[in-house]
Amino acid sequence: MSQGVMSTGEGMRIFPDVEACIDCGGCVVACKRTWDREIQNQRIDITTMAEGVAGPQGENADKTGRLEAGENPGETSLPMQCYHCENAPCVSVCPTNALQKEDDGFVAVHEDLCVGCQYCLSGCPFGAPQFPDSDDGSAQIFGTGGIMDKCTGCRERQEVQKGPACAEECATDAILVGGAGEIADELEQRGSQPFFNDEAMEVIFGAEDAQLFQTDQQEQ
Ligand code: SF4
Ligand code: SF4
Repeated sequence: MSQGVMSTGEGMRIFPDVEACIDCGGCVVACKRTWDREIQNQRIDITTMAEGVAGPQGENADKTGRLEAGENPGETSLPMQCYHCENAPCVSVCPTNALQKEDDGFVAVHEDLCVGCQYCLSGCPFGAPQFPDSDDGSAQIFGTGGIMDKCTGCRERQEVQKGPACAEECATDAILVGGAGEIADELEQRGSQPFFNDEAMEVIFGAEDAQLFQTDQQEQ
């Protein structure tokens, strides 16, 4: 297993380490190959800021800290996928219950209930929902977005104790998988910080678990 995959299955979370991501695209390829996604449908995307800008040297150059301080972080890349949020806004805004937070923690799409209204696209702060068929016939005729698709967390793989394909194939272990405490500990050990602000962390992890990530920042 990848060193970023600490535990799988019920209660797991997926979370990016921006200090480690090098924008190689390996996660995107791994996901597409594993799940045979269409060319226009990416269940994981890499957002890169300050592309080509030289930053401080070092494997862990405290890009998040520098961004917060208004300093040059250098090129900073962030793998974005569905984080299977504890307080998932997509679930809250879905009018047909097509999106559900399941008992094991995964946020799942029930395709038979999706009417393609795209409310989830507005609700998700992380750009996870995809509508690959939005240009197709019925979607155009009825003005819907087609059936929503997003990162599944590789639930099928996790159910047989395999890590998500994107995390397993990440060359720099920039995609962390495990319990909230495991992820917080791993980030601390690496000298990395969460990229997201407090509000986003509470969406992803819930108010209680989000505090696991705040300890170091509050002490500084
Ligand atoms: S809000 Fe976005 S990232 Fe969070 S569970 Fe919903 S689709 Fe996934
Ligand atoms: S967890 Fe699986 S479905 Fe989600 S982005 Fe990674 S490879 Fe794709």
